[in-house]
Amino acid sequence: MRATVVDHVGIAVKSIEGALKFWEGTLGVMCTGVEEVAEQKVKTAFLPIKDTEIELLEPTADDSPVAKFIEKKGEGIHHLAIRVDDLDKALEKLKAQGVRLIDEKPRKGAGGARIAFLHPAATGGILLELSER
Ligand code: ZN
Repeated sequence: MRATVVDHVGIAVKSIEGALKFWEGTLGVMCTGVEEVAEQKVKTAFLPIKDTEIELLEPTADDSPVAKFIEKKGEGIHHLAIRVDDLDKALEKLKAQGVRLIDEKPRKGAGGARIAFLHPAATGGILLELSER
């Protein structure tokens, strides 16, 4: 497995529109697109910063995993994503090493990426996403 870059940092927000007032208005970090990931019941906004991105996540339903996260912990950093060059190979290797995975197989993420999450119990408390694009 080869990690190539910190792909993005996912931040759970109640409202993308509200969060953009800070990110765009105050910081000048501009949003380049918003996409809905129906499977995850979230709307995501991308704010590139050089080679990486801030990903704002707004739940679209009360039973969305991100809604539950906000309910429990409040708004804030939700996950960290690392880009890998071969996600299938990475997952195979992690499985063989006994690493606890949330996704045994890649699934579709925002921006056309293939993604898989590792369990926080295996990563020192971080919800870690591997991303291939
Ligand atoms: Zn993500």
